[in-house]
Amino acid sequence: MINEILLSIVTVTSPNAAVLRQPAEPVTSFGEHTEKFFHSMVATMRNAGGIGIAAQQVGETMAVFAVDVSQCVASGDTCALDRRTVKIRSVSPLAFFNPKITKVSEETNVQEEGCLSIPGVRAKIRRANSVAVRYQDEKGDTHELECGGIFARCIQHEEAHLRGILFTDDAVSGDE
Ligand SMILES: [Zn+2]
Repeated sequence: MINEILLSIVTVTSPNAAVLRQPAEPVTSFGEHTEKFFHSMVATMRNAGGIGIAAQQVGETMAVFAVDVSQCVASGDTCALDRRTVKIRSVSPLAFFNPKITKVSEETNVQEEGCLSIPGVRAKIRRANSVAVRYQDEKGDTHELECGGIFARCIQHEEAHLRGILFTDDAVSGDE
């Protein structure tokens, strides 16, 4: 049993806010430390009411983010994990170590987003409708996920964090 701990969330006004702009470094070894970090990220995210969190948001520059959109999807909503159709709720939360977005749909949509690191700010962001992402789980096993909707939006938001990009950088103006 791996116990998670609550981590401090780095916001744009934190003394160590610069970490939010640092690109992530690949994770090369997996084990109890990556499992514990994942569980701690999820506990921290849930405690703050978020649906995604990247390592920089808790002061680390590891290439990993966690996502749990189960409260934002219907019980029957599905994604494709390793080419099998599965219910999103049954595979959440997920850890994405060393993620690479391998495919984005040409179709895009604009929705309002928020971010645990920018409290109180909402902005409309254009994102691809669906994505495919290759990544390793907290044990180091490689997977491929294809998804759409808020799951795809959240993955794009978190993957940008790993490159030091905040959602407000990409905000669209007007009623575009
Ligand atoms: Zn964010």
